[in-house]
Amino acid sequence: MKFSDIPGLSETKKMLAGSVSNGHAAHAQLFAGAEGALNLPLALAYATYLHCEQKGEDACGECAACRKSLKFIHPDTHFVFPLSNVKGDKDDERFKADILKQWREFLLTQPYGNLDNWTEFYGGENKQALISREESREIIKTLSLKPFESQVKVMIIWQPEKMHPTAANGILKILEEPAPHTYFILVSNAADQLLPTIISRTQIVTVPLLSDEEIETQLVALNVNEKKASVVSHQAEGNLNLALALCEDDEEDDQAQRFAEWMRACFKKNVAQLVSIADDFHGLDKLHQRGMLQYSLNMMREVLLQLGGATTIQRSQGEELKFVQDFSRVMNLARVEYATRLINEAGYHLERNGSAKMIFMDLSLKISKSLNS
Ligand SMILES: [Zn+2]
Repeated sequence: MKFSDIPGLSETKKMLAGSVSNGHAAHAQLFAGAEGALNLPLALAYATYLHCEQKGEDACGECAACRKSLKFIHPDTHFVFPLSNVKGDKDDERFKADILKQWREFLLTQPYGNLDNWTEFYGGENKQALISREESREIIKTLSLKPFESQVKVMIIWQPEKMHPTAANGILKILEEPAPHTYFILVSNAADQLLPTIISRTQIVTVPLLSDEEIETQLVALNVNEKKASVVSHQAEGNLNLALALCEDDEEDDQAQRFAEWMRACFKKNVAQLVSIADDFHGLDKLHQRGMLQYSLNMMREVLLQLGGATTIQRSQGEELKFVQDFSRVMNLARVEYATRLINEAGYHLERNGSAKMIFMDLSLKISKSLNS
């Protein structure tokens, strides 16, 4: 991965490259971004840049170091990432030998992937993935060695908030005084969950989400047709990974239909149908559950704009817009605010692995009550 392989973020790229060329790059940095920010690709490009033997504004992409970096096999770039147990495989040794290979393949095939994508990729159990204490010992051991080929060593810790507390404590010291040839890059999509003692030892690089326009341009460049790219870019809220997933199936039509059906059932207090919709929701994978909640939030915003008469900045079109107009007749400001808060709470509980069916049913009943109050 080179800087130029990543869409957008030109300011951040310039700043990172500049800090290397003027010799002021911090040795412990936290690339922090919201879910869907491209901070992992950026860390990979930064590592490529650090190792490149003939860098300009970007890594050259052709020197021996770059050729290795682009395949994620540079011996002086180290990776730490969360893992959960693998389904049905109890052979730890084989797992460890294999996992780095799988990680590289993951980066090559899904460079914008998130933790769920990663867990699914290596066949991990659907429970909390962690960075273990053992892993932190490995980090310290690895970093005590001199670089093999490059002038520097790079240690990328993906999702450091998943570090077991003892692992986190284990690396505090080394974060405080990294060896001069060592660059730590913590890549977090939930920096608020990091220990303050970790945050205070790093220089924070905030990685913004892409704009709708940048997502759209990127989708078109990846051969998504223009109409779809336009629709999806508005739904993805700056999250390229989500945008790509939404392009893969006809999710947005499904979502529109499902949402309309759901709201009608809430309005009619049709509990049997709400149970069946909750069952369907439960059957979706995490990504699509999340997508559905995000879509619902988008719709609440559309209703709000409709109620406020700000129809020129609405994003809905066609059938969807018609639904928003109809739906707005039974909504008011308080109901929109209440539903928005409930949907956000549902998302929060879902991320913490609550039962999707219970969460969704609870959400439905509360919205139903509010629509009929
Ligand atoms: Zn190079």
